[in-house]
Amino acid sequence: MESTGAAISAPFGCRALRWAGQRPLRPADGRRRRVGPGPGPEKWRSLKASCVATEKPDEKAAPGLGVEFADEEDYVKGGGGELLYVQMQATKAMESQSKIASKLLPIADETSVLDLVIIGCGPAGLSLAAESAKKGLTVGLIGPDLPFTNNYGVWEDEFKADLGLESCIEHVWKDTVVYLDRNKPIMIGRAYGRVDRDLLHEELLRRCNEAGVTYLNSKVEQIKESPDGHRVVYCGRGHKILCRLAIVASGAASGKLLEYEVGGPRVCVQTAYGVEVEVERYPYDPSLMVFMDYRDCFKEKFTHPEEANPTFLYAMAMSSTRVFFEETCLASKDAMPFDLLKKRLMSRLDAMGVRIIKVYEEEWSYIPVGGSLPNTDQKNLAFGAAASMVHPATENS
Ligand SMILES: Cc1cc2nc3c(=O)[nH]c(=O)nc-3n(C[C@H](O)[C@H](O)[C@H](O)COP(=O)(O)OP(=O)(O)OC[C@H]3O[C@@H](n4cnc5c(N)ncnc54)[C@H](O)[C@@H]3O)c2cc1C
Repeated sequence: MESTGAAISAPFGCRALRWAGQRPLRPADGRRRRVGPGPGPEKWRSLKASCVATEKPDEKAAPGLGVEFADEEDYVKGGGGELLYVQMQATKAMESQSKIASKLLPIADETSVLDLVIIGCGPAGLSLAAESAKKGLTVGLIGPDLPFTNNYGVWEDEFKADLGLESCIEHVWKDTVVYLDRNKPIMIGRAYGRVDRDLLHEELLRRCNEAGVTYLNSKVEQIKESPDGHRVVYCGRGHKILCRLAIVASGAASGKLLEYEVGGPRVCVQTAYGVEVEVERYPYDPSLMVFMDYRDCFKEKFTHPEEANPTFLYAMAMSSTRVFFEETCLASKDAMPFDLLKKRLMSRLDAMGVRIIKVYEEEWSYIPVGGSLPNTDQKNLAFGAAASMVHPATENS
């Protein structure tokens, strides 16, 4: 990931194409399909993405674009027109992280019935698997063996007292600051931490291992009910796992495995373009975390009305020279494109006199906010982003 010099490698103008004949996001009657994979137009399932970038992205960085979505809302939650960037973010190589399969025993016997199957190995899935197994349940975890690739920021008190994960915080700022206008900045009075994603992955795997969680490296295709009332979890390569309860923690775009309420609010999207850099002339106090700086520093003519949506700067200074900056659109009905956010960030930093001298990493953060909740009468439970457990104002789950 690390690169030298101020050049940033992201391909401008690189987009996943929408399918032919795509309809407007909200059907005329305001209703959306909300029942499992079910029958539906083939186009939901056969989304193809291609790239019109000025620089072709590394194929290895964004493989497997034959993603399947249950419906239009699921497509939006999964990345919509920004899908290629979402995939680049999700498939970053993190060689420093252990493989899940190297830490957990395999789900051994596909004929016995587990108490619980948890689908998805993100922070929500791993945490819930460990906590449930600690209570004495037999727990199987199923999902692709992928590392944590996101840079997570958290309120220190929640991570420490509520979750006991303080050992996974790599940097703490004693307070957070918000700038809304030229008036006095607002101090939030709450400490903020940057998560070390390698340590978090390792710690959650350690907890799963200690509690006896077993694992299958596979994507879940569907969940059905057996004649004797058990859940049958159908996975890739013909694996079938039986359990009493299946919990879906497979992230925001989980419409293929869950039923969502009909007629709920339309999902919005938070997008943020981030970059970790070495800089000269950092303009803030590095002992404070800049949670939101809404003071506009870019002077740009807008060609589309959506470009007028406000964005803010989020900045975590690890020192006075090494900083993670993120230009963020808090929520928009149509996701603000990453290339526009990137231009705004560069323009903002330039206006503040910040000079980038080295780039360590870029980040494409795509977070659906709001939208329908899972139906409460279905037999499978939702957890984490799959259950829309994302705070609509702060993004924090
Ligand atoms: C770049 C970025 C930065 C973010 N920063 C923050 C932050 O600072 N603070 C914060 O609170 N939140 C942040 N978020 C939001 C973040 O997505 C959630 O907080 C968190 O990752 C949600 O965890 P999760 O386990 O529910 O879902 P995810 O992390 O999305 O994990 C879902 C897992 O399910 C797997 N999966 C998908 N489909 C299947 C299937 N069919 N079968 C089996 N497994 C499947 C996926 O491979 C993935 O491993 C960020 C998101 C992004 C993208």
